[in-house]
Amino acid sequence: MSLSDIQARIHKAETKAGRAEGSVQLIAVSKVQPNERVEAVLKEGHGLFGENKVQEAAGKWPAFREAFPDTKVHLLGPLQTNKARQAMELFDAIHSVDRPKLANTLARLAQEIGRCPDLFVQVNTGEEEQKAGVLPADADAFIAECRALDLPVKGLMCIPPVDEEASLHFALLAKIAARNDVEGLSMGMSADFEKAVALGATHVRVGSAIFGARDYG
Ligand SMILES: *Cc1c(COP(=O)(O)O)cnc(C)c1O
Repeated sequence: MSLSDIQARIHKAETKAGRAEGSVQLIAVSKVQPNERVEAVLKEGHGLFGENKVQEAAGKWPAFREAFPDTKVHLLGPLQTNKARQAMELFDAIHSVDRPKLANTLARLAQEIGRCPDLFVQVNTGEEEQKAGVLPADADAFIAECRALDLPVKGLMCIPPVDEEASLHFALLAKIAARNDVEGLSMGMSADFEKAVALGATHVRVGSAIFGARDYG
């Protein structure tokens, strides 16, 4: 696989779903990947990347951004409140807003800094104990709470359970978004991004299918 293969597959899925070509943004998930692989994708002209950890992103993106100034980077992984300020300074979007304490911290910092990255509320659609995200039953109230804090809620995000049909979770996320008038849908990874596009994803998060397997060594 390569970047252009994935882009072609996204375009095909967009067309098949009757959606405009270019309506889905491809987030190239560069976590844990060696710098050479990331640099190769930057050199191909790709401008949107995803990372899971604030610390890891802080270690590599300032230099990459100097060389490729228009690059956008999104935080996909869980965010601790004590790293919220650093995350707001580093990322163009945060996909893991999932609890009132974090929402309050982001709102306070947004006031102080004078801007805020685009925010996605993470929904734990599979209601998995170990997974981040608000429960589906709490999503409407939490989205309202974020909006009351003037936070820019641009979308919802989910990571379906590994052993379940992803489409059911994508459909649930789309339903929660529709009833709350939320436009963005961050859903779909290497194994299932075409299904996510069919169900309305605006952002797909694809790592290993672009960069190769991650070596956690
Ligand atoms: C790692 C990760 C991805 C990418 O996963 P792949 O299966 O490599 O495409 C997407 N979203 C999140 C939240 C991730 O942590």
